[in-house]
Amino acid sequence: MKWSLKIGRYAGIDVYLHVTFLMLLAFFGYAGGAFSGDKEGWKVIGLILSFFGCVLLHEYGHALMARRFGVRTRDITLLPIGGVARLERMPDKPIEEFLVAIAGPAVNVLIVAVLAPIIYFTQGFQGGVGFPPHQGPFLELLLYTNLWMIAFNMIPAFPMDGGRVVRSLLAMKLGASPATLIASRLGKIIAVGFVVFAILNHGFFMLAVVGVFVWIGADQENRMTQVRHLFNGVTAARIMRTDLVTVSANDTLARAAALLVGSGQQILPVLQSGQVVGVIREQDVRQALMRLHPSAAVYDFTDGNPPVVDSDAPADEVLVQLRTTGAPALLVYRGAELAGIVSAANLNTYAMFREAGAQTGFGPGVPTPPPLPRYGRDGL
Ligand SMILES: [Zn+2]
Repeated sequence: MKWSLKIGRYAGIDVYLHVTFLMLLAFFGYAGGAFSGDKEGWKVIGLILSFFGCVLLHEYGHALMARRFGVRTRDITLLPIGGVARLERMPDKPIEEFLVAIAGPAVNVLIVAVLAPIIYFTQGFQGGVGFPPHQGPFLELLLYTNLWMIAFNMIPAFPMDGGRVVRSLLAMKLGASPATLIASRLGKIIAVGFVVFAILNHGFFMLAVVGVFVWIGADQENRMTQVRHLFNGVTAARIMRTDLVTVSANDTLARAAALLVGSGQQILPVLQSGQVVGVIREQDVRQALMRLHPSAAVYDFTDGNPPVVDSDAPADEVLVQLRTTGAPALLVYRGAELAGIVSAANLNTYAMFREAGAQTGFGPGVPTPPPLPRYGRDGL
């Protein structure tokens, strides 16, 4: 995320702090009088920091549970409205999504279970002031904020944790596509509720921000699920491009540039003695041309280990791979042989026709299998 400072790496996951978070801290510290020597101000800063420590643990709850199901987390960012663990994807099985979603609030339950006896046997409960409580003994306030987090996160506003729980439970009965549609509609209704509540109640500005994020998140996730639904039963072989233009490793950058322009491909497979040795991408050629003579060899700018996908792989795996690797296109292999390349443009075009076909009820609009691969034809 832009404007984020890396504050560390724990359990193999980078943790970032968004600068707006520091601004929030400074604002509340200033309002509490921290910079004019008021102890109350430092207590507020301490409370916010420990609160976000709990948020961080909450996000690690999600991330470490996801890891159990083979899903990696790219990073965790702390924002003023809470934390975001960027999971590469959600696990497909509803029960796994359920466990990943519930693992975050479960961490807060654990923190409450640790804090409650400590408070009870030391100072005793004295009761916090305000809603949510912001005045009172430090540990007690921390306990209340954790209770608040559990309650807030379990609101069934998809894609918040409670909404994911709802979706996963619905998905067990209905399947992913209708379950997401229902959960995202519910999420949007609650998002509007958040914004209305924030307008009517002074001091709940952050809730309006959360409402907007929930709306956008619900919409995006629903669209993505519906698109993935369109790709049901479709393999990479059905959507890949097969009439490939390739380049020889000994060719020049100028030739690679011309081939990229002429072919419209985002990547060129690089061949050496008839074997594919890697790919060269548009941006590789561009960067090379910024420094070197156009007669430099393609070989030096070839990525020898590009992302690949099997021709029998499901199309939504292509989608996930494109997203996680950030590659403009993937090489598609049938066994040991290069069969084609596939990019987001292929997926979009396929989805467009399939959707059009689905509207008529005549069936999918893309019935013909692709022609046989003709790669090796060296363009121009
Ligand atoms: Zn969560």
